[in-house]
Amino acid sequence: MKEQILDSRSRPLRDLRISVTDRCNFRCTYCMPKSVFGRDFQFLPHEELLTFEEIARLSRVFAGLGVTKIRLTGGEPLLRRDLEKLVEMLAAIPGIRDLSLTTNGSLLASKALSLRAAGLHRVTVSLDSLDDATFRAMNDVEFPVARVLEGIEAALAAGFGPIKINMVVKRGVNEQDVVAMARRFRSPNYIVRFIEYMDVGNTNGWRLVDVVPAARIIEAINAEMPIAPTQPNYRGEVAGRYRYLDGGGEIGVIASVTQPFCHDCARARLSSEGLLYTCLFATHGHDFRELLRGGATDRDIDAFATGVWAGREDRYSELRGKATTEEPKVEMSHIGG
Ligand code: SAM
Ligand code: SF4
Ligand code: SF4
Repeated sequence: MKEQILDSRSRPLRDLRISVTDRCNFRCTYCMPKSVFGRDFQFLPHEELLTFEEIARLSRVFAGLGVTKIRLTGGEPLLRRDLEKLVEMLAAIPGIRDLSLTTNGSLLASKALSLRAAGLHRVTVSLDSLDDATFRAMNDVEFPVARVLEGIEAALAAGFGPIKINMVVKRGVNEQDVVAMARRFRSPNYIVRFIEYMDVGNTNGWRLVDVVPAARIIEAINAEMPIAPTQPNYRGEVAGRYRYLDGGGEIGVIASVTQPFCHDCARARLSSEGLLYTCLFATHGHDFRELLRGGATDRDIDAFATGVWAGREDRYSELRGKATTEEPKVEMSHIGG
């Protein structure tokens, strides 16, 4: 392996998030509001998506540059047909020590076993409420919470524990469900991660007043089930970890608004059509598909990636509110969070 590449703030590139589709069967109001992602919305035609071979090739080059973690995401990644094949290809890449998937869980009950067999290491399931009415209102397609819970159980039975459960907390919408979520998944089999609602993209009408600060979430849980902070698993871990004092497991908080963590951010995001974004809040991506389809060698791709990363200055969350841009940001459903 080559020497680790560093960006302009001396941050390495370790973590690659790959979106395999821009489509989703949910319309979470904070991510793909129906007013924008309605019936007429034009999703990418299939030929514009990177093929599995193209994704695997890029992943090999990135592994050579120091990437050790790959997360598959979307849109909803389980909508991409035969995703298990891609999992198999990525699991075989030397240097990739952690291969995971983030899903809304809607199709997980039928896919958990085959994903495990294909070599997937970990699964994160997004779940914003245990209350059926609140959950349906948030996914905005009347999807019942019971089916996601079945998916989570199937993933546990397939051997994916501990399973991370992502809950985006929005004031006045599901804030009241925080403690119930913590209680329900208080077990070494699960780690609930409470995520501050973020101003990603341009369509969700984000307002600072809708954010529930992580400190408030911690306070509410601690009042019922005492917790204490614990050490990060590794440098650059985005979630602050807390463990239950009685040994019941742990939770995480992702305080990207109130406690930004840009100084350690080692992530790049690849959209389903092959644009590489060096920040969740980026306004433009770097076109790797053009290279791939234009006959570039691995060495050309390596050089392009190295140049892109070397020029990286992103720290949007640290500057939030200070630096403003008129340019539209990339949508979350495009690069997968
Ligand atoms: N569809 C899959 C899912 O929902 O897990 C994968 C893609 S989704 C974009 C990835 C994660 O981003 C989810 O956990 C979702 O809750 C989170 N997310 C989306 N919009 C967000 C926002 N505005 N603020 C914070 N998290 C958000
Ligand atoms: Fe779909 Fe995930 Fe976005 Fe919800 S958060 S709309 S499930 S991509
Ligand atoms: Fe990384 Fe950008 Fe998020 Fe900062 S704002 S942590 S640079 S993705």
